[in-house]
Amino acid sequence: MIIPLLFTIFIATIAYISYKSKALSISGAISSVFVGASIYFSFGFPGLVPLGLFFASSSMISKWKKERKAQMASILEKGERRDYVQVLANGGISVLISIFNIVDHDDRNFWFILLTISFACANADTWASEIGSLSRIKPILLFPPKFVEKGTSGAVTVLGTFASILGSSFVALGSSFFIKNDAQILPFIILFGFIGALIDTLFGCFFQRKNKCLVCHAETEKRIHCGEYTVKTKGFVWMNNDAVNFLSIFIATVIAYFILDKN
Ligand SMILES: [Zn+2]
Repeated sequence: MIIPLLFTIFIATIAYISYKSKALSISGAISSVFVGASIYFSFGFPGLVPLGLFFASSSMISKWKKERKAQMASILEKGERRDYVQVLANGGISVLISIFNIVDHDDRNFWFILLTISFACANADTWASEIGSLSRIKPILLFPPKFVEKGTSGAVTVLGTFASILGSSFVALGSSFFIKNDAQILPFIILFGFIGALIDTLFGCFFQRKNKCLVCHAETEKRIHCGEYTVKTKGFVWMNNDAVNFLSIFIATVIAYFILDKN
């Protein structure tokens, strides 16, 4: 009884510090406690490892060289402070996996691998966009292929692509102590984290909502720019960056589920 209580206090403390250091909004902090507690309740301490690796590294990397990323603020829909939608876009799948793990507790290793993959995806995507934005060369849109402004969804840089592999590896390696047959499964997790980030880019290119500012003519993900409503130029109305994040992690995890072929 006392240990779960201590862990809940521990998770809440981290959420509070993240709120104070402006990594999370108040809704983001509350939903982080919900995600952390769900994972802990299902997987115990090992479950908090992939979550913690993702959360700590992506929060730090978002703060890193902030002034050089300032120009992206004009394109991105939201600031660096994560709200509950962003937290659930990155952590919602892990809550679902935690529920499956409780229902089907005989195969904990299998569900833990999927949990790790879901955070490897989230981390690969975050590292790719944060580190990729420091690239000296402009990103290239996948289709139609052309150089675009930094922060544009669906575009890639060489630096960002390497960063996504590193981000996936970081979560996979750090979590591998808790995985049986980790040597065989590790490359698989790293690959699927990368595939998640790749799906994110594809969806960002083809389906994500893009807007245009009627005042300054800039392409943006914002609904309001230069004090006026923007108009949609591409993609589905509801497909913002959070929806793309959620779907890419979901799809990569589901593909991994079928390939791993449980039992
Ligand atoms: Zn504008």
